[in-house]
Amino acid sequence: MVTRSILVVEDEESIQELIGSHLLKEGYQVTAAETGEQALEIAGAARLDLVLLDLMLPGVDGLSVCRKLKENPRTRAIPVIMLTAKDSESDIITGLNLGADEYITKPFSPSVLMARVRAIFRRLETDHHDRLEGAETVIRIQELTIHPGRHEVLLTGRPLDLTATEFDLLAFLAAKPGWTFTRQQIIAGVHGDNCPITPRAVDVQIVGLRKKLASAGNNIETVRGVGYRFKDFNEG
Ligand code: CA
Repeated sequence: MVTRSILVVEDEESIQELIGSHLLKEGYQVTAAETGEQALEIAGAARLDLVLLDLMLPGVDGLSVCRKLKENPRTRAIPVIMLTAKDSESDIITGLNLGADEYITKPFSPSVLMARVRAIFRRLETDHHDRLEGAETVIRIQELTIHPGRHEVLLTGRPLDLTATEFDLLAFLAAKPGWTFTRQQIIAGVHGDNCPITPRAVDVQIVGLRKKLASAGNNIETVRGVGYRFKDFNEG
């Protein structure tokens, strides 16, 4: 398995070292940042699997870092665990609303923190497994029903004749309504038999898919300058 890469954003050296040493001991790859600016710079450049984010930072604070990470399509999928003061309930709520996955209050025991880290990765593994297997996970959105296990799509009960790539593309986007994916992310996420290999090929596949989806075709939205997303009907 690829080594998980974790960014620890913490301005207090002793805590930084404590967290870092425990993570290293468990075999994770650790990168450290002392400021929010540094954290964003690293997140923009490196492949990260998790960010441990202290909220009380000099300069750009942790909540702003979290917001920026979650706004950026490149980094929004990286889980974030916030490190917060015990009495900062409003910060915790703000952070969770911004998309942080977890929080842990200071002072914390390293073993509890490590347990949270492992739990996050376990959850990701399960999600990933579900996505790959997909047998039981039926996606129902408006008039569309997608059976990943059966490679079948129904539009108001009638099966649609999609190619393997069109199907994978649809299942990939519809699994996360409202999430915008770049063409590169789509290429990375879709491994159909005729996996589209160029960004232009993604555009062509989308055109074909929309046509076959007929009335449901405009559920696949173009996000100008970024990529595509499946319409989020819960957003209102
Ligand atoms: Ca701090």
